[in-house]
Amino acid sequence: MPNDKISAVGANIAEKAAMIWNVADMLRGPFKPHEYGLVILPMTVVKRFHDCLLPTHQAVLDTYEKVKKLQVIDGFLQKASGYQFYNTSRFTFETLLADPDNIESNFRDYLSGFSTNAQDVLAKFDFDNIVISIKSSNVPRMMAAYRLLASQTDYPLHVGVTEAGGNRMGLIKSGMGIGGLLMEGLGDTLRVSLTDEPENEVYAGYDILRAAGYAVAGPEIISCPTCGRTQYPMIEIANEVERRLRDEGFKKPLKIAIMGCVVNGPGEASDADIGIAGGKDEALLFIRGEKIRMLKGDIVGQLLEEIHKM
Ligand code: SF4
Repeated sequence: MPNDKISAVGANIAEKAAMIWNVADMLRGPFKPHEYGLVILPMTVVKRFHDCLLPTHQAVLDTYEKVKKLQVIDGFLQKASGYQFYNTSRFTFETLLADPDNIESNFRDYLSGFSTNAQDVLAKFDFDNIVISIKSSNVPRMMAAYRLLASQTDYPLHVGVTEAGGNRMGLIKSGMGIGGLLMEGLGDTLRVSLTDEPENEVYAGYDILRAAGYAVAGPEIISCPTCGRTQYPMIEIANEVERRLRDEGFKKPLKIAIMGCVVNGPGEASDADIGIAGGKDEALLFIRGEKIRMLKGDIVGQLLEEIHKM
């Protein structure tokens, strides 16, 4: 091939590559570089379909009006479009871009206007297989961003507070941010980011779901803050029960109360499935509000035995 032709082919490829990366730049907002392909490939195909059909767009619309009540219309519309596929949507890219406030619903209308064979091609790109994440380490900003996003799109939201911190501030920020959004009905998937072991992030995620009222497998420990009435090692017992159930992978969704005293404990934990309320070096076992018996000695072991019977 003569040198000038090689140069021309090279320039052509460079031009096409530049065009694709320009599209990538325009779409870079919610997508990370390694995710560009999820959008660029289908958008490139849609744009190519669009450009092919644009010269006959009006002819297809006119034909569609005439034949839309017939049983079989494909042949008429293919003839009008000049291709084996067509689009009966009134939108073009120009009219889509002219109405940015309604671009999502209008673009969906445009996509659904394609003939079945073109839609089959587009379906392979999993257009809707996307969740959007717009995290921030600032809880008020993160919540405001998700609320705004939810008001603009129906795409599922992946919620989280990023770089939240360790297992104190990180848990508080995640509980507020993720839990707050869940309580508002926002969020489809979640991620807790802690400066801690990855499994603790997962446990925290389950706990936030539980606290927000979602039915999550595993126990929910209810415990009081202790006070002058507490006469047994309640904090150690509560931590030990929680640790042992977690380590054994206990999956029943039981509410388990560990309360400091028999005076107020059973009443304050009245909606628990099972619980104990401390006396002096002993604990009263109660099951669904009913006082069962006093536990002495290995309180943790006996409580776990009762929990496993439920
Ligand atoms: S349950 Fe008893 S020990 Fe616990 S905070 Fe209430 S009064 Fe104090």
